[in-house]
Formats: sequence, C-alpha cells, structure tokens
Amino acid sequence: MLGAATDQVNILAVAQAAGLSLTPIQGGRQFTTRCWMCEFSYLGADTKKQGHLTIRPDKGVFRCPRCGHSGNAWTMANELFGEARGKEVLRQARWYNGPKWEDAPVADIKTRDAVYRALLNKLILSPRHREDLSDRGLSDDIVNKRQYKSLVGWESTRGICNLLLKEGYPLEGIPGFFQDKYGQWVFLTLPGFLIPVEDETRMIQGFQIRVDDNYRTYLETQNKNIPGKYISFSSAGRKKGCSCGALIHVAVPEGKSLQNNRVWLTEGPLKADIASQYTDMPFLGIPGVSLYRQAAEKAVEMGVKRTAVAYDMDFKDNPHVKKAEIELLKELFGRGISALPVNWSEGYGKGIDDAAVFISNGQIPIPKDVLERTFRPNNKIILEVQIKLKTE
Ligand SMILES: [Zn+2]
Repeated sequence: MLGAATDQVNILAVAQAAGLSLTPIQGGRQFTTRCWMCEFSYLGADTKKQGHLTIRPDKGVFRCPRCGHSGNAWTMANELFGEARGKEVLRQARWYNGPKWEDAPVADIKTRDAVYRALLNKLILSPRHREDLSDRGLSDDIVNKRQYKSLVGWESTRGICNLLLKEGYPLEGIPGFFQDKYGQWVFLTLPGFLIPVEDETRMIQGFQIRVDDNYRTYLETQNKNIPGKYISFSSAGRKKGCSCGALIHVAVPEGKSLQNNRVWLTEGPLKADIASQYTDMPFLGIPGVSLYRQAAEKAVEMGVKRTAVAYDMDFKDNPHVKKAEIELLKELFGRGISALPVNWSEGYGKGIDDAAVFISNGQIPIPKDVLERTFRPNNKIILEVQIKLKTE
C-alpha cells in the first residue's frame, strides 16, 4: 500500500520537511543535497557544499552517485524521521503540489544504434587517447572495431548535430542529445573519450565517457565540481533530453556465447572489453558497483546460467565495493544463477583487467577446474574463494 501511495507523494515536500538544504540544478528540474548515507560508506561524510545526493521530483526518487544510495519519498521519510513519524510526514506531503516534468521518451534500440553509429563516424580518436587505451592493454583491433572515439568542443557538437539532422537522423529521444538555450541541438561533451556500450546483439545502447584526468585535476584547482572518472552519456533533465538509464555492456569474444559459458561481471565497459580480450571469456560491464539489481536482471534476461563476479580488489580499503559485490552475489543466487566471487593477488593489479593483462601469456589465467565449481550462500554467508592466478 505504501508503495502505491509514495508515487503520489512529492519527494520535495519530504525533503523540505526534513530541513534539507536544496540546491536546484538542471534548470530547477532536479535538486542536490548532502547525502545522509555517505558517512556510513568508506567515503566518509558528504561535505560538498551543495551535496552529492540528487533528487528527481519528476520521478519521485533520489540517488547519491557517491555512495550509490537511492530510494523514493518513503525511503527518505523513513530514514530521516523514523517509521512512525515518517508515515505522518508522507501523509502530509501527499497534498504538496510541486512542479512536474518529464523526460522525452527514449528511442528504440535500433534508432539509437543508427544515430550513435552515425555520430561515431563523424568523430576521431585522438593519438593521446589511443595511446592511453593501448597502455591499458586494449588492442588496436578492438579499439577500432568497438569505435572508441574522442569527444569534441561544444561548438563542434552543434555542427555535428546539424549534419546528423540533415542526414535524416532524429535526435529527440536519443540520450546524450539535447537542445541548448538557443534551441539548437547539441550533445553532452567534455574532455575525454566515448566508450560505446553494446548489447548482446552488438547494437550500441549508449556510451560511457572516460573523463580526462588532467581536466579533472584542472577543475579541482578551480574549486569547481569534479565529475567522476566515468560518466554516462545522458541528457536527463535537459531541454528535449532524456536519460540513458543503467546501461550494461556485453563483451562477447568471437565464437563464445553467453548461455554456454560462465559470464564474468565487472565494473564498466572498458574493463569488460580489456578483460574479455585477455581471458577470451564473455564479460558484462556494469556501469556502477551499486547497480547490482539491474545487473542480475540483465543476466536473467539474457539467459545467463553461470557467472563469476570480478570486482576490484581494493575492497580492503573500500568496504563499499565489497558490500556491493555481496549484494550482487545475493541477487544472482536469488534468481537461480550460479555466481562465483573471484579474488586474485592484489599484486596483479586492482581490477580484473589489470590482472588479466599482467598475467597474459596467451593462456586463460584462471584454472578451469576452479571455474566449474559452483558456490552457494549458506545461512546468508557468502562463501569466498581465493583463486590463485598462475603466473607460470
Ligand atoms: Zn552518498
């Protein structure tokens, strides 16, 4: 009953009742505030002036990109007021008549794929970015086949959009594209490169942007908001824009199938591409460790039976990743999918991509017999296996 009721509650009213300091962003369509859950994560309290937690009144939800905490009006009321008082706040908030807005509906995958490929055809990969990808271990072949491309300046986005429109591509409903204050079509850009996110049929669903480190450092010296290293190519909350949602990249080596092989899950499309190249295994690249439910649902949707979860090995200093890994394993087990947590010596590198590149000598690094074993949680305890990757 509460689930249905919360849909009609304005989440802003709850936030205001809690006395949260709200900063409007996206032209007032969203608000940020300091996240109350961050301090329970390894990151520590959210001390950013405007806060990291973003509230979307149009959808009645909030999410913190820093610690991954998310929820709706009821979650917020329950956490900030406790259950009894929370219900009362919710009852009062139902009459709040706040502003409403909606994203443009997202175009179907075929249209998105066509527009995104036409966009990529108009972009190049700068030598600096190519070198960066090569240093990470990604082969030139894959870089070309997957069409990694560098982003351009704002002015150029206008010209490219005009070309796309002239060629007959619709830009409305394509996440990442939106209209600027002059009503001209542009797309999200900042110094960095685009990583195409493909689905299981190799269609481009969207992109992740790898933001240049020197740009992030520059913003830091200017005391400005620093974007994450990886951000989504999305135009949610912009004029005629829309959200790309949580896009999971599917990297399947030639001749492999998702159904007949153990599918590895790791963080992000770039890691998935690199690790897949070196292990010759199918990989799913999840855009954020806290998106475990979406990842498990995607695995079910694709008919995946067996998985291995290879999250970063820095969880000794990073309990947030460890917790996310356990949640993902639970979600997978709960859907009848076998899931194997994979650990390796930290000396081989933090990510599975680093480890795979490090060990790469033309062999699959993980002993097959270990992979074929199935682990299940026992009394809520997730069994953990230490897999020793062989260097010899
Ligand atoms: Zn947070």
